[in-house]
Amino acid sequence: MLIPAPAELARRYRVINGARFRLKDINPSDQWGKRLKPIAGEMLKQGSKRMSQLQERLYAQDRWSLLLIFQAMDAAGKDGTIKHVMSGVNPQGCEVHSFKAPSPEELDHDYLWRTARLLPRRGHIGIFNRSYYEETLVVRVHQNILARQQLPPELVTRDIWRERFEDINAYERYLSRQGVVIRKFFLHVSKEEQRQRFLERIDEQDKHWKFSPADVGERAHFAAYLAAYEDMIRHTATDAAPWFVVPADRKWFTRLVVSAIVIDAIQSIDPRYPAVDPKVADDFKRIKAGLEAEAPARKKKAKKR
Ligand code: ATP
Ligand code: MG
Repeated sequence: MLIPAPAELARRYRVINGARFRLKDINPSDQWGKRLKPIAGEMLKQGSKRMSQLQERLYAQDRWSLLLIFQAMDAAGKDGTIKHVMSGVNPQGCEVHSFKAPSPEELDHDYLWRTARLLPRRGHIGIFNRSYYEETLVVRVHQNILARQQLPPELVTRDIWRERFEDINAYERYLSRQGVVIRKFFLHVSKEEQRQRFLERIDEQDKHWKFSPADVGERAHFAAYLAAYEDMIRHTATDAAPWFVVPADRKWFTRLVVSAIVIDAIQSIDPRYPAVDPKVADDFKRIKAGLEAEAPARKKKAKKR
């Protein structure tokens, strides 16, 4: 089977027109008819090589950056996906940041503050494992969190979620105009698959560390979370910062799709190695001649032979 172009996979799972988006149209166990299963290993291997080449050029060009935002329910596979997809990239040009419940210092600022300081610098790939989108998810599902945010009460109105969407859209448009290419992933896992993964985490000692009893508490709000996710995607899927709703019941498939989307994103930047000034190129010849003349006598002789 022919390996599909990354752009084709990206297009399939991209949401840019939020108004028409409905979460029920996406099946968490979709595997695109399983057609990619036999070549998944080869695709991931080639993908990782391609990503590594592209990242090197992104880094050398030092103009654009790539921000990858991951959101999902517990046990959807954010950590594993990040680990696998990024396994080929040079750690020097890539940073991962996880956002948990905000600290008192963070709560003393606007909600974008803590993420703004950690945006990727030019030439880098930045990964947010959860993000400011939690402000429209966990905070919406548990409104007591909102009450603890120290906001002036007159600013907390019925419009708060719409206002947050608006502000996030404006912020992401601003970032995109600054050369930050944004790709947002919702790893869409089903409630049943989550149940099985929780059971695995309890049954296998090596996975105990991944399990927190609080996650089961959140599971009780699964439907409320899905509603919040749907509304969030409907309001914040834009051309400048599209959402990708990635089926997450099959780990191999999630990884394949995310990897293709990341490759497609860097390809769309089309990063190039910076051209060397012709004058500097002339200098290279002179410097090279000098370095060669410095070779120890034995090597010079060996070269003559
Ligand atoms: P993960 O669950 O992503 O693998 P983790 O289990 O290591 O990560 P937790 O200690 O569970 O991390 O922290 C993540 C928790 O922090 C999530 O429940 C998330 O909803 C919560 N969180 C993130 N951002 C916010 C926020 N702005 N306000 C309140 N809670 C938040
Ligand atoms: Mg957790």
